[in-house]
Amino acid sequence: MKIAFASSEIVPYAKTGGLADVSGALPRELEKLGNEVKVFMPKYYEIDEHKYGHHYDSLIGELKITTNGYEHSVHVFHGKMPHSNVNIYFVHYPNFFQRKQFYNSNDWDEDERFILFSKAVIQIMQKLGWAPDILHVNDWQTALIPVLLRENYGWDSLFHKTKTVLTIHNIGYQGRFGLESYKRAELPTHLYENNGWLSHEGDSNFLKAGILYSDIINTVSNTYANELLTPEYGHGMDGYLWYRHSDLYGIVNGIDYNIWNPETDKLIPYNYSANDLSGKLKNKKYLLEKLGMPFDSEIPLIGIISRLVVQKGFNIIGDALHELLNLKAKFVVLGSGDYHYENMFQDAFNNHPNKISVYFGYNNELAHLIEAASDIFLMPSNYEPCGLNQLYSLKYGTVPVVRKTGGLADTVQDWNEYNELGQDIGNGFSFYEYSGKALLQSVKRAIKDFDNKPVWRKIQHNGMNKDYSWKHSAKEYIELYKKALEK
Ligand code: ADP
Repeated sequence: MKIAFASSEIVPYAKTGGLADVSGALPRELEKLGNEVKVFMPKYYEIDEHKYGHHYDSLIGELKITTNGYEHSVHVFHGKMPHSNVNIYFVHYPNFFQRKQFYNSNDWDEDERFILFSKAVIQIMQKLGWAPDILHVNDWQTALIPVLLRENYGWDSLFHKTKTVLTIHNIGYQGRFGLESYKRAELPTHLYENNGWLSHEGDSNFLKAGILYSDIINTVSNTYANELLTPEYGHGMDGYLWYRHSDLYGIVNGIDYNIWNPETDKLIPYNYSANDLSGKLKNKKYLLEKLGMPFDSEIPLIGIISRLVVQKGFNIIGDALHELLNLKAKFVVLGSGDYHYENMFQDAFNNHPNKISVYFGYNNELAHLIEAASDIFLMPSNYEPCGLNQLYSLKYGTVPVVRKTGGLADTVQDWNEYNELGQDIGNGFSFYEYSGKALLQSVKRAIKDFDNKPVWRKIQHNGMNKDYSWKHSAKEYIELYKKALEK
């Protein structure tokens, strides 16, 4: 199968969240399964083409791309994704992509940046004379590609057999802009007028248009796919998703064991495995000493690695924080985001420096170390499309305590759960009610079982021995693509 994959962030080039992890791993896995994959992303300022051995693509040369009636001269860098034969194309337009951040929601031309990128993806394929069987786009930043392909490039017979798949990684981000966006995209007026397919509540909404134009829509877990059909989780898109619900699927993300594996992880001082967890304890000692906290193997260390945003459940952590800090446990928090939550954790640290350590900012190495060193991982999300950190935690023998929603519900089984054969399949602790009280109860259960070493080992082993690699998920994507091709 020929697959084009477009994303606004991809590991190792640019990352703000889980989308980048997925985009870095899935295309390579699809290629391993015998498919021809081409990947597209913007060339942000931070991406050093020399470091990755990428070159200006003189065969593609200059692309003339119009937005809002204005012609832009765009170029392309081209290379291979690491450890693979996957071709990756970087859309180079410094005027739009050399900004302080990858996303700049306050910039007046944020919509135009991704309109230009979307058109560039199509025009690169035109220049290559290469049409994919499947064009796979991700989130609002690339959701307009299926729309443009039909409305603006529908004349090009090259793409007449191409089917489109849109993956929603987080419905909370929709690409909502003013009325003028459809003009900037040079889309026909019927997309906006009379509640057209791009318009939602008086705005242009890129994700809505993507939902209505793509052949197949999927999201990153089954539970989240069902949740999206409800007003509580649908963020205003539930009606449109209902309209498309026979084409809506869920596939849980895999994790990249080349990067996240305690047996080989180069970012942690002591490697370890399910059969020999002694290295895990050494990592705990190493981290606590590094953080200036006293080490005690009998006191569980609870890790948090997250964007500090309300989605991730920090308001209920706040409700329970006082009592959490009085438990027989220590906390280490790595996060960046909302100042309100940074202040909350900073205050907790100021008052309990021996119980909690905080690091504000993005730090990949510390993230690996926290996964390896902690006994428990806390992730009480309000909503969670898939979630990756609980998957890393399972692999690292760091028992997750999660709220039962979205991908967390699909991947973390409570220690009370049994399978149909009556076997203990619990690999963590979960609660349903979104409250500090429910969270606290689950944390207390986890701390209690931490003291029961045989039980704790069993919970750890249940998590560590299950395969969450991309191999499974990539095969599910192939089945999904086949469904798209039948349409
Ligand atoms: P989301 O995409 O909603 O942020 P996920 O759990 O799907 O949540 O993915 C988050 C990814 O970002 C994980 O790889 C996690 O390790 C990483 N991450 C989040 N915050 C930080 C941080 N402050 N420092 C380092 N890595 C982080």
